[in-house]
Amino acid sequence: MTPTHVDVAVVGGGAAGLFAAARAAELGARVAVFDHAPVLGEKIRISGGGRCNFTNRDCSPANFLSQDPRFVRHALAAFPPEAFIERVRQRGIGFHEKHRGQLFCDHSAQDIVAMLLDDCRAHGVVLAHPVEVLDCAPPTAGQPARLETSRGVVIARCLIVATGGLPVPKIGATAWALDFARRLGLSVVEPRPALVPLALTDPASEPLRALSGVSAPVQISAVSRDGYGEGHFDEDLLLTHKGLSGPAVLQASSFWEEGAELWVDWLPDAAFDESAVGRSTVGQMLEARLPSRLAAALMEHIDPEIRPRRWAELGRQARTQVRSQLQRVPFRPAATLGWNKAEVMRGGVATEGLSPKTCEARAHPGVYFIGECVDVTGHLGGHNFQWAWASGFVAGRHAGSSSASRPGSSSSAC
Ligand SMILES: Cc1cc2nc3c(=O)[nH]c(=O)nc-3n(C[C@H](O)[C@H](O)[C@H](O)COP(=O)(O)OP(=O)(O)OC[C@H]3O[C@@H](n4cnc5c(N)ncnc54)[C@H](O)[C@@H]3O)c2cc1C
Repeated sequence: MTPTHVDVAVVGGGAAGLFAAARAAELGARVAVFDHAPVLGEKIRISGGGRCNFTNRDCSPANFLSQDPRFVRHALAAFPPEAFIERVRQRGIGFHEKHRGQLFCDHSAQDIVAMLLDDCRAHGVVLAHPVEVLDCAPPTAGQPARLETSRGVVIARCLIVATGGLPVPKIGATAWALDFARRLGLSVVEPRPALVPLALTDPASEPLRALSGVSAPVQISAVSRDGYGEGHFDEDLLLTHKGLSGPAVLQASSFWEEGAELWVDWLPDAAFDESAVGRSTVGQMLEARLPSRLAAALMEHIDPEIRPRRWAELGRQARTQVRSQLQRVPFRPAATLGWNKAEVMRGGVATEGLSPKTCEARAHPGVYFIGECVDVTGHLGGHNFQWAWASGFVAGRHAGSSSASRPGSSSSAC
């Protein structure tokens, strides 16, 4: 049964929407989630290679890109990673730390989906899907929101928008939140794919593309020209037949814009520690650190005169030349691999129009935007889910307490 009157209508039943719905309902609000997908939580199910990297122990505001980097502070403090970890523990879901604080389910991402759905059901949330929200008039002074759905009209005191970002359209991603925000007069930062592999098409990178499948630890840097700062990551880079991928490149892609360069350091400074490498040739230094096919390809760029000589024997000019060929090597990707391959969206509903404490639209009390549709993008490693939980927590609690406490809320029929 689709309800006709609720305190809180949540549009989008993904990570943020389901979590927010349960938080509002546990405060006594009558809550319904509307999602056009036949199955809820699909993005959670496919996340983390099917094991869902559901949070990161070390998540902090430094792990997010936003036009306002301080925006996430309140929500992360109100609902830190440990709070979600505790829920996972209480549910009895086994998990493990894979890399730098990244927590994955031992068994399946489906365990997290089931936890969220049971949480909603336990608090009486109505899960209405597949339901299209055809039109929506936001709440205005004294008037509730009115949603026209494929199953009829729904009247709601508060509206939580949680329709996510644009990646992976085949499992239901839409621009609903962005279109709705624009209709309300809110700014939207242009969305673009992030945490996404990058294509190299220039002839100079052909030898690297030929090494498809080879991966190596690098230091990678990218500087955003659109106000997202800069990122420097020590991670693995994977060469593919289309260009660059692997955690290092996914991280850097969030800062990259069309036409810009990014820089790869194949031999970070530590590799040039004199005591360790002085007796090695440049080729030996490369081979000690990188797969031999990659080392051989990079050697092609080194002056044949220099190749056989030991590092300690090289003069300053030769050393500078070697460093410039191997460190901070510029790449100019042609494009990202697009929304089908992106893990997240950068950009979205501009934070300037939202309260950092509740994610409520400043100019539209009773309307909240949470999760990936907001201009908050996490680094790779569980930070995007942590944002979904944290923003869902603050918005759900606020919407639940304000709507459920209004006189008469419990008497309206659902
Ligand atoms: C392949 C992949 C792997 C990932 N792995 C990880 C990971 O391991 N760790 C991590 O932190 N992040 C990961 N992410 C990112 C993470 O999945 C998202 O950041 C997170 O799901 C965002 O939560 P959300 O609730 O905002 O949006 P979503 O989870 O995308 O939920 C949005 C919901 O809204 C619904 N919807 C959309 N449009 C409409 C509409 N018009 N009407 C009604 N409903 C609508 C959708 O059907 C969906 O159910 C991954 C992403 C991808 C694509």
